[in-house]
Amino acid sequence: MGQKSLPKIYRKSLLYKSGVEYADFGLNHIEGCVHGCTYPCYAMMLKKRCGQIKDYEDWCTPKIVANALELLDKEIPKYKGEINSVYLCFSTDPFMYRLEEVNKLSLKIIERLNRDNIKSVTITKGIHSKELLDYKRYGENNEYGITAVSLSKDFHDRYEPFSAPIRERIKALKRLHDAGLKTWVSMEPYPTPNIFAQNIYEILETVSFVDKIVFGKWNYNGLISSFKDYKSFYNYFSNEVIDFCQKRNINVHIKEGTIDLEEYASRSPAKYSVRDGDLLFKFAY
Ligand code: SF4
Repeated sequence: MGQKSLPKIYRKSLLYKSGVEYADFGLNHIEGCVHGCTYPCYAMMLKKRCGQIKDYEDWCTPKIVANALELLDKEIPKYKGEINSVYLCFSTDPFMYRLEEVNKLSLKIIERLNRDNIKSVTITKGIHSKELLDYKRYGENNEYGITAVSLSKDFHDRYEPFSAPIRERIKALKRLHDAGLKTWVSMEPYPTPNIFAQNIYEILETVSFVDKIVFGKWNYNGLISSFKDYKSFYNYFSNEVIDFCQKRNINVHIKEGTIDLEEYASRSPAKYSVRDGDLLFKFAY
């Protein structure tokens, strides 16, 4: 039996200037997200504050922007000469786990952008479709990304409960990489050990095939500041991520606000050790 079709909404516009350096435009062709992350999800908080959604359950029942492709047909010529790349998505996820209706629309949008030589930059906690290997339909310049902040099933079940299992996400990304396409990983929001203790090097090694790694701190949750040494923690591991990437020729980007320059200048280097997959955290004062 097929899936029940998702509710529809109509928008007046779709493309918008993003103001970030890694994609000049963005679009959100879905409202809500079935993955239901509990970090919490910034997009959900924002929509709730604006009164666009009622609660978590409402957020986890995505609505499709039914006129997304018509809007693109109108807006692409309007921005001609200005758009190089479009980010999918800042406020939702383009490849929702086991939601074919969302995934099909996202593929059509990527195809439409690529037809006008506009690169798409994706980020998902779902699965990148095999169809993206079809160079005739999709360009070869897209950048495909996944979020990978933990390899643990416990972490997944607690914080990304309805997203794709992390190993499936990585496998699908590796398939694109092996076909010569550009791939990247977002390690954001990276947890402090009081939120989730884990071995960061194991994650880095597992995703070391990618072209770029983005590292960023855990946000919008008082839990990190209850971890006394969180500034040092992020300073130390930002350095470790940079070091790891430089040694393997991987591009690296540390998200704004992750490195605390004051703390960095004021302390002696932190000492850490890794034992049995747990991260032990100590300082040399
Ligand atoms: S996948 Fe992204 S948009 Fe979806 S709930 Fe998680 S953080 Fe929010």
